[in-house]
Amino acid sequence: MTEFEAIIPASADDAESAAFRSIESALRFALGNRYRGEPDSLAQHQKRIAGRGGAPRFESDEERSAMAGVIRRRISTMHPSRHALLVVRFAPRAFPCACRRACCSGWAKNDEWAEALSTLVADSIVAVSGHVSNRQLRAGIVQRWAGASRVNIGILAEKCGVHRDTAGKQAKLIRKWLDQLERSALDEADLCLSGQPVDNSQ
Ligand SMILES: [Zn+2]
Repeated sequence: MTEFEAIIPASADDAESAAFRSIESALRFALGNRYRGEPDSLAQHQKRIAGRGGAPRFESDEERSAMAGVIRRRISTMHPSRHALLVVRFAPRAFPCACRRACCSGWAKNDEWAEALSTLVADSIVAVSGHVSNRQLRAGIVQRWAGASRVNIGILAEKCGVHRDTAGKQAKLIRKWLDQLERSALDEADLCLSGQPVDNSQ
């Protein structure tokens, strides 16, 4: 196994001895790495990650899977809302699919992402407590925040049967809640991933 002193660098000076340059690249890697049995899609994924300047230096697919497993295990202890936020932010919404069936769009949706989104939509009700809140509206707002939808707030309000101003106000509250949740999620993930990359399971 390649020797890394850390998963993420404790400071900029330690970047060389860590497996990833940043917490974001560690999360993108681990959350995009779920197909153990499909080295092709894994290799493609690695190439994309490398293209973004976050190339992890692993020697084999087994090493990559092991590192992804370590990161996933560490963050699995996080608060559920904060964990869901990281999945929505850093996991792919879909994986390339090579099944070649006529009905296939070439993409297979990532169920983990979809589940995390619905957790976040459910939890986002606290951001608009005291207001009459519509689940569909919250879902649209969270998806826009996550970059998964471009439907503008006016159209969204109309679709949900909510007044435009109400929708706008709630969007503001929910975005603020999401931004705060993202900061605390990254802080918590940072604690989970700091230190030695080896879990003492042996
Ligand atoms: Zn397919």
